[in-house]
Amino acid sequence: MYNEYETWGLATRAIRTGHQRTQEGEHAEAIFPTSSFVFASAAEAAARFGGDQEGNIYSRFTNPTVRTFEERLAAMEGGERCVATASGMSAILATCMGLLQSGDHVICSRSVFGTTTMLFSKYMSKFGVACDFVPLSDPDAWQGALRDNTRLLFLETPSNPLTEVADIAALARLAHANGALLAVDNCFCTPALQQPLELGADIVIHSATKYLDGQGRCVGGAVVGDAKTVGEEVFGVLRTAGPTMSPFNAWVFLKGLETLKLRMQAHSAAATEVARWLEGHPAVRRVHYPGLESHPQHELVARQQRAPGGILSFEVRGGREAAWRLIDSTRILSITANLGDTRTTITHPGSTTHGRLNDQEKAASGVSDGLVRISVGLEDIQDIQGDLLRGLERI
Ligand SMILES: *Cc1c(COP(=O)(O)O)cnc(C)c1O
Repeated sequence: MYNEYETWGLATRAIRTGHQRTQEGEHAEAIFPTSSFVFASAAEAAARFGGDQEGNIYSRFTNPTVRTFEERLAAMEGGERCVATASGMSAILATCMGLLQSGDHVICSRSVFGTTTMLFSKYMSKFGVACDFVPLSDPDAWQGALRDNTRLLFLETPSNPLTEVADIAALARLAHANGALLAVDNCFCTPALQQPLELGADIVIHSATKYLDGQGRCVGGAVVGDAKTVGEEVFGVLRTAGPTMSPFNAWVFLKGLETLKLRMQAHSAAATEVARWLEGHPAVRRVHYPGLESHPQHELVARQQRAPGGILSFEVRGGREAAWRLIDSTRILSITANLGDTRTTITHPGSTTHGRLNDQEKAASGVSDGLVRISVGLEDIQDIQGDLLRGLERI
């Protein structure tokens, strides 16, 4: 692989890696909407199919636009290989299918994306893969859940919606001492704010649908890691099972990557301001945000992340009724569970993303009835605050 970029900074990698210009001399990357590729001769076709010659065969497994996205994201995460997928969930599924087999055991954070929990508890279990769920920020719980057949540790940090943080380096050491791999879903931070591979993780998962796109247009995902784990084992699943990213979507994500660093800095700065302001409001009981001194793992955040990110949650006084009144009073903010958009989004986790939990599970996961989550977008901060203030004054 072309590795000149190793001396380059993140923004340069985001703009300059992966693109191989065609004979047309295009400045921006081309989209290659083609399902298959032609060969100069029968012998060349045979060499490609036999693996003796590199090159495109069929867009289920290689496409130049998709490859540009893969090489760029790999360069940004500091990984050898990236495999792009149709969605974030298919990135996780391809990872599981590539690395796990019947009889294996997985330890997963209790605070991961709800559909990820479902994938492990309902579907992977059908194929003989057992999974235990543990509190994200409790290292003893991870240690205690280890078994001889534990093959994979899986987490997101910061978590949704309470922004708890896991010590990636410590959990990578724990995994490796026990012959397991650590996979980190880096959706909330993106490589602009956190590079799990550098901290010792083996695999990075992305839902490109969120910040990598950043403008809420396309669904996609990616897996990043070393040449064997990702380039062979996960790629093999993609090639065979086919949850492939389309070239059109890859092009949109490429454009997203080019502004990722700027956007993540701006999301972080705006969220920090909104979090501090909310912390001082009398209708707000508590604010959860990695950038606040009141965050229980503020020091770890400073060590592990370049900035706190754009997601925060807060608890209003008055439970669900007050939370709903606040949400319904907004005029600019979008009421949607999606996140990582230029548009600020607001949601009530207790009745949406975490609505399926019973009261006991909600208490254990800290999702109270008064909790509201916002993904702070790139509108002017005074307008975001003004929109929230109208609701807070009605509580
Ligand atoms: C959205 C999300 C996913 C799933 O991604 P899709 O692109 O919707 O399939 C996985 N992990 C996290 C943290 C997410 O926010």
